Amino acid sequence: MTDVYNFCAGPAMLPAQVMKKAQKELLNWDGLGTSVMEVSHRSSEFKKLAKQADQDLRELMSIPDNYHVLFMHGGGRAQFAAVVNNFLGSNGKALYLTSGQWSQAAAEEAIRLVGPKGVDTIDVTKNEVEPVVKSISIPDFNNMNDEYRYLHFCPNETVDGIEIFDDISSPWPIVADMSSNILSRQIDVSRYAVIYAGAQKNIGPSGLSIVIIRNDMLKLPKLPQASIFNYQMQVESGSMYNTPPTFAWYLAAEVFKWLKQNGGVAQIEENNYKKAELLYDCIDNSNLYVNDVAIENRSWMNVTFKLTKGTLETEFIEQAKNKGLVALKGHRLVGGMRASIYNAMPVKGVQALTKFMVEFEESNTNYSN
Ligand SMILES: *Cc1c(COP(=O)(O)O)cnc(C)c1O
Repeated sequence: MTDVYNFCAGPAMLPAQVMKKAQKELLNWDGLGTSVMEVSHRSSEFKKLAKQADQDLRELMSIPDNYHVLFMHGGGRAQFAAVVNNFLGSNGKALYLTSGQWSQAAAEEAIRLVGPKGVDTIDVTKNEVEPVVKSISIPDFNNMNDEYRYLHFCPNETVDGIEIFDDISSPWPIVADMSSNILSRQIDVSRYAVIYAGAQKNIGPSGLSIVIIRNDMLKLPKLPQASIFNYQMQVESGSMYNTPPTFAWYLAAEVFKWLKQNGGVAQIEENNYKKAELLYDCIDNSNLYVNDVAIENRSWMNVTFKLTKGTLETEFIEQAKNKGLVALKGHRLVGGMRASIYNAMPVKGVQALTKFMVEFEESNTNYSN
């Protein structure tokens, strides 16, 4: 079988090296003669794994000591609700910036839980009509007198392929949904009060969420909620209030080790920049492919594009698949194509894709609409 490059947006590909190691030790983990799936989360062996994962993530992201790292259930969307329930008790109010599908969904969940009075939203997208260019414009918050418990935003919109690279300054604590760009480039964690991410894009299998939370946020008044989503209780129990998703945790720990062995976030950032540049250059140098996001907001993780000859899209996907380039179909809500090129996607995979794109365009130059 030829190499398959999987461009799925999530659950996404994991590093081959990690998957091979997991396979090798599937039936005999840590010399125990059992799988890591079959040992107690309270065993000394699993606790060692948990401690190492915490240390490795702290080192990779330079997480300051006044932050807790939690490994929780429920992926990204569980945190949409957890954030609200942990911070908006006693009639608290939050500000949500919307920039695409996911930040919109987070705002909707907040409104569902506390009603429209508890949530303000600001649409930070700008759409130039002719030609269509999507970009982001963050307002200056300093002259706003509102008392918000937090400002929520999503720095990388996975569906739309829009990323916010500039640091946001806010008089309120910043909560960021980094599900699809955590660990993809260096960030200053101390600028955020809370960072959360569903694991299945850049970290590991689905179902797990990582939450990085600053100490003082634990003191905010809470709403009644399931104990497993209570940040304070999860901090006190070391993310083991109930049985955590242990296999997902193990794979995440292996991905952290893989990142460390491969030069950490600084190196992966370089690779990611290179991959995105290759693909956007290919798009910009063609007459067949178009991307409608302003250059400064083009996502490094999710590259969206359409074919100017729309009738060729099915053929494009089919031929790509025959070349081992799979899962390129865009999100059902926006159509077109999407190549998700998370940390685990090697530069070689993007080179194979751009080579195919050039060939496909050449073989269709005589095509008329
Ligand atoms: C995938 C994704 C989510 C949702 O994750 P689930 O684990 O499916 O709940 C939320 N936010 C962003 C930015 C995502 O990319």
